[in-house]
Amino acid sequence: MVLGVDVGGTKVAVAAVEGVTATHTLEHPTVRVSTDALLDGLEHAVHRLIQEAGRPDAIGVGVPSQIDYETGTVESSVNIPLTGVPLREELGRRFGLPVFVDNDANCAALAEAHIVGARHLVMLTLGTGVGGGVVTDGRTFRGAHGLGAELGHMTINPDGPPCPGNCPNRGCLEAYCSGQALERDASELAKDKPDSPLAGRVGGRAEVSGHELVSAADDGDPDALLIFENFARMLGVGIATCVNAFEPDRLAIGGGLSRASHLFFDRAIQQAGSRALPALWRRVTIALAEGGADAGVIGAGVLASVEIARDRDTENSHVTTTKGIE
Ligand SMILES: [Zn+2]
Repeated sequence: MVLGVDVGGTKVAVAAVEGVTATHTLEHPTVRVSTDALLDGLEHAVHRLIQEAGRPDAIGVGVPSQIDYETGTVESSVNIPLTGVPLREELGRRFGLPVFVDNDANCAALAEAHIVGARHLVMLTLGTGVGGGVVTDGRTFRGAHGLGAELGHMTINPDGPPCPGNCPNRGCLEAYCSGQALERDASELAKDKPDSPLAGRVGGRAEVSGHELVSAADDGDPDALLIFENFARMLGVGIATCVNAFEPDRLAIGGGLSRASHLFFDRAIQQAGSRALPALWRRVTIALAEGGADAGVIGAGVLASVEIARDRDTENSHVTTTKGIE
C-alpha cells in the first residue's frame, strides 16, 4: 500500500492507494498563507491517514508545479506558495518514508494509463490552464530534468492571444483551450455585443465565467456556440500535433472542462482526424479520461508504486552485477 497526495489550489486530497483503487480518502482546504503552513497542513493530513490506513511503503505527491524530478525540487507553482522548495527531501524528512513528487498533469496521465491499461498514452488536462502528460512504454516521459511534456504550451498560432500561463509565448494551446481562455472570450463577447443573450444573462457584468458560457451554449446562444467551435478547432490542432509527435495508443482528454465535452469533443476529433498523419491516426483512440474525481490521488499513488518497484529492480540488478564480478 502507498499513499497518494493530490495538492490542488483549493484542496488537498490524501488516500491509501493499492493498484488503481483509492480508499480512506480525506480532503481538507489547501493552506496557502505560507510554504510552512502548507507543508504543516500536508503533514497533518498524511499523519491522520496513516492512523486510519496504516503505514505505507511510500508516498506519492502531485502538485500544480514545475518539478525538477531528480532532486524533487519545486521550481514554481500555480496558485500555491511553493517556489524553490526541495519538496521531496522536506517531506521525506517529515515522514521518514520514501517520497516522490511530480507535476499533477504527469500524475493524471500515469493514473489514466494504469486505469485503462494503455502503455503509450498522452493526456491533455483542460482546467484553469492546460496540463500535459506523456506515458511512454508504461513510464512517465519527463525530459532531462522533469520539466518536459508541457503540452499546454505548444504553439497553435504564433500570432494568437498572449498565453495566460506563466509563459512568454502567444497562441499556445492554453491560450485557446483553457478555462482562462474561455472566460476571456466570453467577457470580450459580452462587452462587444451588449445585446447578445450572453450579455443579457450576466446583466452587464464585465467578467463572465466559464460556467455562464457553458449554460449560454447549452441554451443555443449562437455566439457562445461559436466560441466553443473555435475551442474545438484549436483543440483538434493540438490533438493532431500530439498524435504525430508521440504516436500514443490512446490520447485522453481530462480536467474540469471535459465535463462540457458535448460542446467540443466530437468536433475536435473531426479536426484532428483531418490533420494528423493517416497512418498514426488509424492506430490511436481519442477518449475522455476515465479516471474520476480520485484520479489525482490515484496518479500520485501509482507514481510511488512505480518508483519503489524501479528502485527494487535497480537494487536486484546491482546485486546480480556484483555477483557476476565476484
Ligand atoms: Zn504558453
